[in-house]
Amino acid sequence: MPVILSPDEARALNARFEGVGPDAVLAWAAERFMPRLAATSSFQTQSVPLLHLISQVCPHVPILFLDTGYHFPETLAFRDELVARFGLTVQVVRPDAERAAQHESLYRRDPDRCCYVHKVLPMQRALHDLDAWISGIRRDQTPQRAGTQVVEPLPQGGVKINPLASWTREDVWRYIHRHDLPAHPLLAQGYLSIGCAPCTVPAFGGDERDGRWAGTDKSECGLHTDALHQPSGLDEERGT
Ligand code: SF4
Repeated sequence: MPVILSPDEARALNARFEGVGPDAVLAWAAERFMPRLAATSSFQTQSVPLLHLISQVCPHVPILFLDTGYHFPETLAFRDELVARFGLTVQVVRPDAERAAQHESLYRRDPDRCCYVHKVLPMQRALHDLDAWISGIRRDQTPQRAGTQVVEPLPQGGVKINPLASWTREDVWRYIHRHDLPAHPLLAQGYLSIGCAPCTVPAFGGDERDGRWAGTDKSECGLHTDALHQPSGLDEERGT
């Protein structure tokens, strides 16, 4: 049974952490929730500061990497490079093989359902035995993320912690330059935000997430909306 954080406690924590550096938030999270704590990362350029901070503040926190089977090979190589350089512990989370096979190329017909099968369901399973989950999302990334709090109680129990909630894209780059950290190899080709290869295109000069599901009104995979919600009409058990 995951920890339950009352709305009053969450409000007090958010007042305490607003304007406070992410290192202090990570230190609090590790002390409060380890060993029932993990971080998630997609190992793209904007993931680098949080991964570096974790390596400095709480290196024993495992990093969950959601391998949908659709990643760019460059992302997998960048993941391995960062893991080795920062000394991180990575746990690869994969969708149920049988279910994923049933839904091959689903991204062409129904990307919401594809994300649910390949991302949301496996992440729900991975988070089941945890009390808290560290994410690198920021308010400035999309209008949907503008209300992100540092500490967010989840409806099903457990807590999501967003240490970079108040950071801007400029803060990310300032940190990367100050610590001389690498960027994802596809950034040079215009990929500002990188997810699964079939759903990511370059976005030269645009907003950070313009290249995700380009040409559609989809901007989120479901991991960060309504706490891992289920698309309407989808059978949760069968994923159909
Ligand atoms: S990002 Fe695209 S390929 Fe990846 S799970 Fe979502 S719809 Fe499927």
